Amino acid sequence: MQILNGLYQVGGDLNGITYDQPGAMWNDGNTYTLKTNDGLILFDCGCGDTLEQIFGNMRYWGLDPKDIKFCLFTHPHLDHAGAGHLIKEMDIYTIAINETADAVATGDDRCCGYLYHKTFSPFEVDRRIVDKEKFTILNLEIEAMHLPGHSMGCTAYLFQWEGKKIVVSGDVIGTLLSGFFGWDGSIDFDKSKYTESLLRFSKIDTDIMLPGHGMIYFHKPRIRVEEALNAALQEWR
Ligand SMILES: [Zn+2]
Repeated sequence: MQILNGLYQVGGDLNGITYDQPGAMWNDGNTYTLKTNDGLILFDCGCGDTLEQIFGNMRYWGLDPKDIKFCLFTHPHLDHAGAGHLIKEMDIYTIAINETADAVATGDDRCCGYLYHKTFSPFEVDRRIVDKEKFTILNLEIEAMHLPGHSMGCTAYLFQWEGKKIVVSGDVIGTLLSGFFGWDGSIDFDKSKYTESLLRFSKIDTDIMLPGHGMIYFHKPRIRVEEALNAALQEWR
């Protein structure tokens, strides 16, 4: 699904762009691809069992998976990073915040394999980044924002594309409608950190939010963050 020129959603089972198991809607997080003049960037890569579907979707849009140069991870959960070991086999350079890199290196319960009745295959992240770090890949400047809570490794990525400020938000912001935030069952879930992250994120204006599951927000995503913050403050204190 094309979002803007050169920006696509190529995976995600909640809206059926990929498909994992009968009845499953949360097995495969959203995968996004950005096409630069110098190659492709992936944001997350799905659970691992849908990678060929993701590549098929890319080919539909004229994107060759062989042109993927980088994969950035929003957090270590299997539905987002389960294909990481396969991505590494393709010599794609992987980037994640320290807490995510630590989790996927062990593949332990922080990666939630048990939740999907699957085994997370561990992998080493090539480059570890930290909160507020700005880095340039394929001539695109990206800023990382560490937003722990749903998991300790949750990271949003902010960048400009076609004159719009884009944020890839992973599971920090939920996936359905107003006031919905990410799943709260992760072994490293932390209510107070999550609320702090929502408070910080609620001060950031963006034009388009690409969440970890479900619908993309094209109108004032900050409102969604404020609604999730409000819900968290009501429910979690
Ligand atoms: Zn998650």
